[in-house]
Amino acid sequence: MPQLLTHEALSESDDERAQELGTIASIFPEELTILTFTSGILNLAVTPLQPLATTSPSSGETPVLLEHLPPVKLQFSLPEAYPAAAPPTLELSTTPAWLLPEKLSAITQQCLDLWEELGHGQVVWAIVDHLQQCAERAFDVAAPFCVSDELHAELVEFNEKTKHEIFNKGTYDCGICLEPKKGTVCHALRSCGHVFCRPCLRDYYVGLIKEGDVNSVRCSDRSCVKSSTRPPPTQPPDNPDDPEAAQRAVALASLPATLPPEELTDIGVPADLVTRYVAMKKKKALEKDPNTIYCAQKWCQAPSRASVELLEETMKRNGSGYWLPDRGATPAAPAKKPKTAEEGQDHPSPLREKLQVCSVCSFAFCRVCLASWHGDFQICKSIDGKLTKEELANEEYLRLNTTPCPTCQSPVIKSHGCNHMICACDTHFCFLCSAYLAAENPYVHFNTRGTECFQRLWEGEEGDLENHLAWPAEMG
Ligand SMILES: [Zn+2]
Ligand SMILES: [Zn+2]
Ligand SMILES: [Zn+2]
Ligand SMILES: [Zn+2]
Ligand SMILES: [Zn+2]
Ligand SMILES: [Zn+2]
Repeated sequence: MPQLLTHEALSESDDERAQELGTIASIFPEELTILTFTSGILNLAVTPLQPLATTSPSSGETPVLLEHLPPVKLQFSLPEAYPAAAPPTLELSTTPAWLLPEKLSAITQQCLDLWEELGHGQVVWAIVDHLQQCAERAFDVAAPFCVSDELHAELVEFNEKTKHEIFNKGTYDCGICLEPKKGTVCHALRSCGHVFCRPCLRDYYVGLIKEGDVNSVRCSDRSCVKSSTRPPPTQPPDNPDDPEAAQRAVALASLPATLPPEELTDIGVPADLVTRYVAMKKKKALEKDPNTIYCAQKWCQAPSRASVELLEETMKRNGSGYWLPDRGATPAAPAKKPKTAEEGQDHPSPLREKLQVCSVCSFAFCRVCLASWHGDFQICKSIDGKLTKEELANEEYLRLNTTPCPTCQSPVIKSHGCNHMICACDTHFCFLCSAYLAAENPYVHFNTRGTECFQRLWEGEEGDLENHLAWPAEMG
């Protein structure tokens, strides 16, 4: 029967090396794997006093703060001549390899130096102590710690997993039912860290969403309720020359930030209610924004697609203000969209476009006259001062140079030629009086004595006016 490698067995051994190993084993019963009476592997947790800010090429501008890093593995053995005539043999590594080989060999050398400093005495405990102190300083890795995307993902996953394991081992008094609950059924709110049991939180938020009280989907702890009034946004609007965007940012900021939808999903709020929650948040924000355009159908009144798209863009960019941010997360700098030539500040906002389409019923309508969409060249039926200068100039031009087709209302431009107009819809009509003309003989209208348009077929044709005062024989 093989001798059991317990720390008691080691401590009872006559070999001083085994006794030294036994002492380490009694301090680190879970972390130390005893290989032989004189060798072992020690996995030392790396939980720096200051979380390590870590980034990677595509991890975004905000570094992730890592509270836990993969353990440092110390494989050691104590040779025959140890400690008087030989140092221990040491090998340091991490999985995944987040500490560079140069860093690991430098630390190994520091450990061997300790053996010299201690006058060739028992050094294993001093080495472990040294490694733990290094771990508290994250091995003096310069922050932000820039790593590959692959390693970044592994480190973030390890950090989350470790935090989760530690949380699950704890017991917490739920802030709602006031019962002590195991960590495995609890949830710590990401924005403030207050802990509640998941069933309580789920019921609480489901109730609020069903009542339509989405602005209250926050922490219910008294200290958090008190501080729910948010300071005004310090970020300047994306474009100070764009008062519309500034108004939208102010409108969003006037709404309380609430739990992000992903967190509600984690808590167990059903997907359909999470969707309803996001939709209600959007509706509230659109109602606050004075620039929102609503569907012209009286029975619908939903916001236009352009209004919704602009809000969604703003939400994406100012997400940290709209949804409660994670505790400890450094606020992200607003992602400035690089402006292309067409996207300069002269680029009109989609809300200034006359054509608007309803986000719900898909009704296409004119922003200015609220009639169903009439095309870009149609004169609006009523103008109530909402037109821009260019639009007014355009309307004036159309008024002077076009006549609406009596059938389809399309403005028909008379660039040159006679006053017999043929619209794209095949209607023949008179440019001067809009009268319908018979397709077979349209000129009768200009050739009948006593009528308003008699002998005016060519009127308005500059320069040609005199030559065409009379009915031209060749046109017959
Ligand atoms: Zn509870
Ligand atoms: Zn709280
Ligand atoms: Zn509609
Ligand atoms: Zn119109
Ligand atoms: Zn027509
Ligand atoms: Zn006429």
